Amino acid sequence: MKKILAVSVALLATAPTFAEELVVYSSRADNLLRPVAAAYQKKTGVTIKLVNDKAGPLMEKLKAEGSNSPADVFITVDGGNLWQAVQMGLLRPINSSTLKANIPANLRDPQNHWFGLSVRARTIFYNTAKVKPSELSSYANLADPKWKGRLCLRTSNNVYNQSLVGVMLANQGQQKTAQVVKGWVNNLAVAPFPDDTAMLKAIGSGRCDVGIANTYYYGRLMDKEPNLPIGIFFADQQGKGTHVNVSGAGVTKHTKKAAQAQKFIEWLSGSEAQNLFADLNHEYPANPKISPDPKVAKWGKFKQDVINVSVAGSNQKKAVMLMKQAGYQ
Ligand code: FE
Repeated sequence: MKKILAVSVALLATAPTFAEELVVYSSRADNLLRPVAAAYQKKTGVTIKLVNDKAGPLMEKLKAEGSNSPADVFITVDGGNLWQAVQMGLLRPINSSTLKANIPANLRDPQNHWFGLSVRARTIFYNTAKVKPSELSSYANLADPKWKGRLCLRTSNNVYNQSLVGVMLANQGQQKTAQVVKGWVNNLAVAPFPDDTAMLKAIGSGRCDVGIANTYYYGRLMDKEPNLPIGIFFADQQGKGTHVNVSGAGVTKHTKKAAQAQKFIEWLSGSEAQNLFADLNHEYPANPKISPDPKVAKWGKFKQDVINVSVAGSNQKKAVMLMKQAGYQ
């Protein structure tokens, strides 16, 4: 009797470790990731525990926790943030033929620390009553004096604009980029907005004629207010292509479950998960074999700038400096 009791106590003590669990630190909105986590759990029995916060605080948390961190996977948005996570030593390289086959080279870290999972374009939006698409062409064109008092932008302290300017620096050099950003500042209709949605609404109300935002904010807004007179225009189609960025994932440096963490990210890159991951946020699947949601596809096909997204990170400091010097708030 004593023996049996000892055995069952031992079983009870070890029982919780049988349930497989992955801890995911994520700056992607909870409502966008929860259905994906649920689908993975249903398929594999692995529980995904989501810890949500903004990218900066999550990276600081990972760094502070070091080898004691419970996190196995890190998910965030923007190549600028993902690049930062690598610089901080928070991720480990993933050697996966599945991920290399599923995710194009420009949408992943050249050293394989992270892989893009969904794609957003940062492009031009315009008031359809006041602007004809034939008047639009490139990001640089928005610096032309014809847009004086008509352009709206989000603030420069946001990583999306830092990434856009970082990529412009790589493509066009310091002098030309500085000229363009100064031109933008000169053309502003009102002070920069704290977020893309507020900026888009200002275009819809006619307060601004043109602006730059991420495609999914447009998708969300038009879902709610389909009659707003806002059009989408894919920038730089005669040049390098429209600036795209990603949300992406990596395996944490100190995970004790690297193989399982990798499996989860591989699954996210495949046919079962890509639409689930992208569609809820009006994004493009990063895996080119997967078609975007019809709502997103109806915006039209466009040429992407295929420069590696990590350039957004490596040029970030220079971009921030340049925007500051241009008086871009
Ligand atoms: Fe966003």
